[in-house]
Amino acid sequence: MNAIQNKVVIITGASSGLGEATARHLAARGARLVLAARRTERLQALVADIERAGGQAIAVATDVTDAAQVQALAQQALARFGRIDVLINNAGIMPLAPLAKLKVDEWSRMIDVNIKGVLHGVAAVLPTMTEQKSGHIINMASVAGLKVFTPIGSVYSATKFAVRALSEGLRAEAPQGVRTTIVSPGAVESELQLGSTDPDAAAGVKAFYQANQIPADSVARAIAYAIEQPAEVDVNEIVLRPTVQD
Ligand code: NDP
Repeated sequence: MNAIQNKVVIITGASSGLGEATARHLAARGARLVLAARRTERLQALVADIERAGGQAIAVATDVTDAAQVQALAQQALARFGRIDVLINNAGIMPLAPLAKLKVDEWSRMIDVNIKGVLHGVAAVLPTMTEQKSGHIINMASVAGLKVFTPIGSVYSATKFAVRALSEGLRAEAPQGVRTTIVSPGAVESELQLGSTDPDAAAGVKAFYQANQIPADSVARAIAYAIEQPAEVDVNEIVLRPTVQD
């Protein structure tokens, strides 16, 4: 038996990209998965694939900007599997544009999904993990949370700096037995790069990803590494990026 076998893992943003790749990877290692996103048809197809391969997963329609829906997600995990070992706060959006374009609605949306979504996840699982005296919260940040990507990434970077700050605070405050990991990837192939509504920014992002991106499974393997460490070892942060990326 490996250290991932039977762990109950909630993944937000599991309908594509890094979340989906992580779901497939952890399912193959025997984790029991609770998959959350808004596009339920994609989640259902993923659950069907996992079950066909002999794994266990359920899909839960969830908008992470709604605290009540994230609470309901945690409740469904408990109802189905009786415990929560890992929460991967992965859902995120990246509508990049220069600040001067004043895309104020997109700024709010990024704050709602990328920051508040993570906080809603923490609030939904912390009481259970405290009671269990064990648990693991993995927050998806970015290398954009280590360096501000100007001139189009200021707000996105701000959200990822916030995720890293929250995660470090959570690590320091975490109840007995609860681990916290920040995962900070560089350019990874997914739908995230399609988020810009500003044409110049979209073209720049496309060119950058074409020159740099690595497969989503690279991040799945990093997440698995953090989960499979013995309970007394907390991998605080993993930074990984394409070898060719600056
Ligand atoms: P994708 O766009 O492929 O996936 C994003 C996921 O987030 C989707 O499953 C989407 O599902 C979900 N999501 C978006 N909004 C919401 C919402 N309101 N409620 C619930 N789920 C939501 O991008 P990635 O896989 O690349 O992104 C995953 C994470 O990785 C993000 O946090 C991103 O910032 C981070 N990251 C990505 C990098 C990259 O280069 N790809 C680099 C560094 C970090 P749905 O639309 O069905 O709700």
